[in-house]
This record gives sequence, C-alpha cells and structure tokens, in this order.
Amino acid sequence: MNLVDLTQYTTNEEKAEEYLREQGILKTFKECPYCQGTRINRVRRFKYKCYSCNHEWGVRRDSILEGLRVPFTKFLIAIKLFEIDTSVREASKQLGLAYNTVYNIHSLMRKAILATDADPAAFSGEIEMDESYFGGRRKGKRGRGAAGKVPVFGILERGGKVTVEVVTDVQGETLLELAIKKVKRGSLIYTDKFRSYNGLVSYGFKHRRIDHGKKFANGKVYINGIEGFWSFAKERLLKYHGVDAQKFPLYLKELEFRYNHRDRDLFDDLIQLLVGYSSVAYTE
Ligand SMILES: [Zn+2]
Repeated sequence: MNLVDLTQYTTNEEKAEEYLREQGILKTFKECPYCQGTRINRVRRFKYKCYSCNHEWGVRRDSILEGLRVPFTKFLIAIKLFEIDTSVREASKQLGLAYNTVYNIHSLMRKAILATDADPAAFSGEIEMDESYFGGRRKGKRGRGAAGKVPVFGILERGGKVTVEVVTDVQGETLLELAIKKVKRGSLIYTDKFRSYNGLVSYGFKHRRIDHGKKFANGKVYINGIEGFWSFAKERLLKYHGVDAQKFPLYLKELEFRYNHRDRDLFDDLIQLLVGYSSVAYTE
C-alpha cells in the first residue's frame, strides 16, 4: 500500500482501528475474556463491555499494541516510515512522538522479523554460501578471523532469497550444520576455497568452488549474489554508525527481510508480518 492509499485509513482513529482489526493486528472479540460470555458489545470509544459480568476492556487488549502508547493512526504512519527506511530520529519528528516511542515501534518490527525465520530446508537449486565479517571500527586484520568483528554466515539461492546468521565461529562444523538445516540435499552449492566447506559433498550436496583470483574465467562458478548482499548490508549498516553487538542480529535479519522482499509491497508484507507475530505472541 502506498502513502496515498494509506491516508484513507489515517484520517481518524476509528478508521485506523478498523483497518488494524480487519488485518488481524487488533483482536476481534467474540466473547468476554473474563467470563467467556458472548453478550458483549462495543461501548464508548475503543472499549468493549460484557453484559454478563460487567467487565470492560480496551480494543488493544491481547494485541501487540497493548503496551504501545501510540494512536492507531500514528502507528500506521510509523510502519510506513519504517518501510521507507526513515531513521528513528526523523520519524519521531514527523510523527510528533518521543524518540523512545518510535524506537520501540522499530524494535517491535525487527523482533517480528526475527521471529519469522525461513522454513528449514527451504533453499534449493543453485546456492551460494559465504561468510563475512561485520563491525569493528578499526582497520585491523582483514578477512577470516579478524579481531573484534562478528562473523556472519550467508546462504543465497540464485534468483531467490537469502538467509544470514550470526555465527560463533566459521569452523566447518558450524557452517555445515546450518547448511544441512537450511538447504535441501542434492542442491548445487558454490563456495570459495575456504576449508570449512570441505565436508559438503559427504552430506549429499553437490559442491563447486571458485577461486576469487580468477572467478571471471569460470563461467557460472561465481558467488556474486551473496557478495552483492554483503555490500548491500554493509552500506546500510554504516548509516547506524555501529550497531551494538546485542542488537546486531536484529538489524541483520531486517536487512535479510528487506533484501528478500525487495520486489514486493513492503508495507503489506510488514502488516502480515505483524499479524503473524501477534499470533505467536498471543496464542489463544
Ligand atoms: Zn464477562
């Protein structure tokens, strides 16, 4: 949904609430959460009432909006601003909300992204695998084993999606375990000559290696796709002027999500993501 179409839902709180309820981000109450009675109705603005036990409750109850002190209209616009990659500082200015409030919305989006990880063995066909190092402000030792940097392992399906994971090390065991978990056996995997990829064939994968020095000469034997993702991710992370180590996996998964949804309607996908996250967080 583009910004112009979104404005029809942001003219007032009722419209925004209705949209959020129809999507499934706000719960549709069919019975009283206190006595399970079904004689319930809407009373006043944004309240339900049960005529059996006389309890009242707000429309945000049992939803991801319960703890957020944000009007529904501003919440929708905040999702739009997140979609178009506005910083927390800029979004808080545009929304007239406190920095921390917008920060909490952005964290919510990233947690929702992290919670909906790709299916196991969802990758197949022609696969590229590679590791890269993130973080560390000082220019020191480069490449594998660089001090103070976070190793990240990436798997990319050609013409499809990417999955990236922060790893504790880049030992063969660690990387193979993730390959087995995420990639269908029999797939053709391209890597560079790093020894940690030695075991791939014995786990039922086809494996071809490229030599970085002469990759242009080898026709299809390249890992340009995953390397393209690394530069996309690194360029974007520069914006944050260094993300602290604890939050890094959240930012990384956001980049994975943006990359995998680059040709889609990101706003609609973010809404669906929040719906999925709601059902995880509030299972009945
Ligand atoms: Zn009741």
